[in-house]
Amino acid sequence: MEKYDVVIIGAGPVGLTLSTCLARWGYSIKHIDNRAEPTHTGRADGIQPRSLDLLRNMGLKRKIMAHEPAKVYEVAFWDPSAKGIHRTGTWASCPNFIDARYPFTTLLHQGLIERVFIEDIEKHGVKLQRPWTITGFQNDGKDPNYPVEVSLAHVDGTHAETVRAKYLFSGEGARSFVRDQLGVKIHHKDPIAHVWGVMDGVVRTDFPDIKMKCTIHSDAGSIMVIPRENNMVRLYIQIASSTDPDWNPRRTATAEEVQKHAQDILKSYTISWDRVEWFSVYPIGQGIAERYTLDERVFMGGDVCHTHSPKAGQGMNTAFLDAVNLAWKIHHVESGFAPRTLLSTYESERKLIAENLLDFDARYAKLFSARIPSAGEVAGAASNEPEESDFVKTFKASCEFTSGYGVAYNSNTINWGPEHPAQHPLMLSLDQGTTKLRSGRILTPATVTRVVDANVVHLEQEIPLNGSYRLYVFGGEPGVTQTALRDLALHMGSPKSFYSVFAHRDQSRDRYHVRDNPATDFLSVCTVLNAKRAQIAIAEMLPEVFARYRDHVYADDVWDQRVPEAKAAAHAKMGLDERTGGVVVVRPDGYVGCVVKLVDGRGTCEALDKYFGVVTGRKLGDERASL
Ligand SMILES: Cc1cc2nc3c(=O)[nH]c(=O)nc-3n(C[C@H](O)[C@H](O)[C@H](O)COP(=O)(O)OP(=O)(O)OC[C@H]3O[C@@H](n4cnc5c(N)ncnc54)[C@H](O)[C@@H]3O)c2cc1C
Repeated sequence: MEKYDVVIIGAGPVGLTLSTCLARWGYSIKHIDNRAEPTHTGRADGIQPRSLDLLRNMGLKRKIMAHEPAKVYEVAFWDPSAKGIHRTGTWASCPNFIDARYPFTTLLHQGLIERVFIEDIEKHGVKLQRPWTITGFQNDGKDPNYPVEVSLAHVDGTHAETVRAKYLFSGEGARSFVRDQLGVKIHHKDPIAHVWGVMDGVVRTDFPDIKMKCTIHSDAGSIMVIPRENNMVRLYIQIASSTDPDWNPRRTATAEEVQKHAQDILKSYTISWDRVEWFSVYPIGQGIAERYTLDERVFMGGDVCHTHSPKAGQGMNTAFLDAVNLAWKIHHVESGFAPRTLLSTYESERKLIAENLLDFDARYAKLFSARIPSAGEVAGAASNEPEESDFVKTFKASCEFTSGYGVAYNSNTINWGPEHPAQHPLMLSLDQGTTKLRSGRILTPATVTRVVDANVVHLEQEIPLNGSYRLYVFGGEPGVTQTALRDLALHMGSPKSFYSVFAHRDQSRDRYHVRDNPATDFLSVCTVLNAKRAQIAIAEMLPEVFARYRDHVYADDVWDQRVPEAKAAAHAKMGLDERTGGVVVVRPDGYVGCVVKLVDGRGTCEALDKYFGVVTGRKLGDERASL
C-alpha cells in the first residue's frame, strides 16, 4: 500500500497553500480534488495586505502580480440623494495608521491565484489527482508511523485506491465529507443568512467610481462594486436575506435580473454589460466548526471550518493563514523540533481567529447597512485625528482586521506571556512597556541596509518561508554590545543550547552557499546593528555564530517616517533600546514568539533556552558554558 506524509483533500486556497509549503519542505503528498479542472474563473478575489506579505515571503507575489490585478487603495461610499445616489466620501482601504508594506487590496480571481500555487507544487513533484474524491478514512493506528488509512476513488467510480498517511487534511470547502464523518458540528453564530448574486464582467457606464471599491446604498437596494483585472468589475448584490418575510435560501436570480437590479440602484447613472465573465448566486450563512481536529492526525481548515459573507473578502485570506499555521507545526513535529502537543495550537489559534472573523463579519454588515457614515466622519478616519467617534473607532478596528494585521494569537506555549512556563527576568513585554512588540502578532516591518551588498531591504521579508524560526539579534551600538554579542554567541555555541541542539549532523557537506540555514534547519539568524553600513565589518565585529549568516547582517541606518527622531529606526520600531538592542524570536509563520533583553553574560541565552525549552519540549542550556 502506498504511504504518504500527508493526504490533502481539496485544491482550493487552503489545500494548495498547505501542499505548497509541505512539498517545498520535502514531504510526500497525495493531493486530490473532485473537480476535473481547476477553478476557471470567479469566486474569491480579494488578497489582503497581510496575505500579500505572506505570498511575497513564499516567493509567489511576483507571479500573482504578473496577472496585473486591480489594486484597491480607497473605498467610496454612495448614498441616496434626491436625484438618485451621491458620493458621501472616500477613505483609505488600508489607512496609514496600519504599518503595511502593501496598503491596498489586490483583486484577482481565485482561478488565477490557484494556478500560481498549482505550478509551484508541480515543480516540487506533487501531481494533483483529479477528479477524485474521498470515500472513507480512519485513524486505526495499524501502522504507527502512518496511522491514518484513506480510501479514495475516481468520481465516476471506475478506480479506487487505499493509501496510508501520517496526516489527513480536509480543505474541501463549505461542504465536507471529512467533517461530516467526524461528526463535527457547525455552529451558526449569526442566524441571519443571505443569498448573494455575484457578477464579473466588462461594463459600459457613466458611473464615475467604477474603478473604485464602492458601497452603494440607494432606495432600490444596496450593491458593492469591486474593480477587477482585465478591465472587469465585480458587482455583489444581496438577493435575499433570512430577515425577509418571504425568505427562501434557495432563492435565485438570473444574470438579467441582477443586471436590472444594478441598473435601478445606480440610477441616474447608466450601466450595461459588454461581457459577463462569471455569474453566480451564492447562498451563505455564518458558521464555525466546533473542532478543527479530533486526534491531531485528521485536520480541517479553510471553508470547512468557517463561512461568512463575502463582503469583507476574508475567506481565501483566512484559508491561506490556516494552512501556513498548520504547515510549519506539522513540519516541526515531523522534524523532531517540537513535541506532538504543538499540533493542538493549530485549533486554538486558528479557531480564535475564525471567531473574531465571524464577530467582525456581523459588525461589518451592520456598519455598512445600518448607518451610513457622514463625510465628516470619513475625513476623520483618514486623517488619524485624536477625537474619534464610535463609527471611526469601529472603522479603524475593522480596517486592521480586514488588512490581516489585526490578527493576534493569545499567549500559549509558543507565544510568550506572563503565564508562560519560561519565566526569566530578561524577557521583555508590551504590557510592561519594555518592547513595542506583542507576542502572537506579526513582526513590525522595518527597512534596513544589507551589509554585504548595500541593498536597502525589508527586514521582515529577508528570511523566506522556510519553516524555520527566525532569530533577530538587534545588536544596538557595536561598541556598547560587543561583550553581550560575544557572550550570546558563546552560549549559543554550547552543545545543548537552542541553537546547537538541532545543528546539522552532517558537517562534511559544503554549506558555504547556504544562505538561511547554514548551521541548522531549526532557525535562521539575522543580526541588525545600529551603525552605518560602511562602518560594519562582519568578520571583525561579529562572532562566528552570527558572521556565518553573512547575507543576514544589516545596518539599521534607514530613516523611517514612523519614528522620525530615531537614529536606528528598526530598533525603535521594535521598542528596543537603540544602544543596547535586544533579541526577537519570530515563529516560522512570521508572528513574534518572545523578546529578550541583550546583556553581557549568559542571561540572554539562558532566557532563550528557557523559551525554546518549552517550544521544543527539551531540556536546553548547558551549565558548563557559564563557567
Ligand atoms: C460558488 C462560490 C462563490 C464564492 N464567491 C466568493 C466571493 O465572491 N467572494 C469571496 O470572498 N469568497 C467567495 N467564495 C468563498 C471562497 O471561494 C472561499 O472562502 C475560499 O475559496 C476558501 O478556500 P478553501 O480552500 O477553504 O475552499 P474552496 O475554495 O471551496 O476549495 C475546496 C476544494 O475542495 C474540493 N472538494 C470538495 N469536496 C471534495 C471531496 N470530497 N473530495 C475531493 N475534493 C473535494 C472542491 O472541489 C474545491 O476545489 C465563494 C465560494 C463558492 C463555492
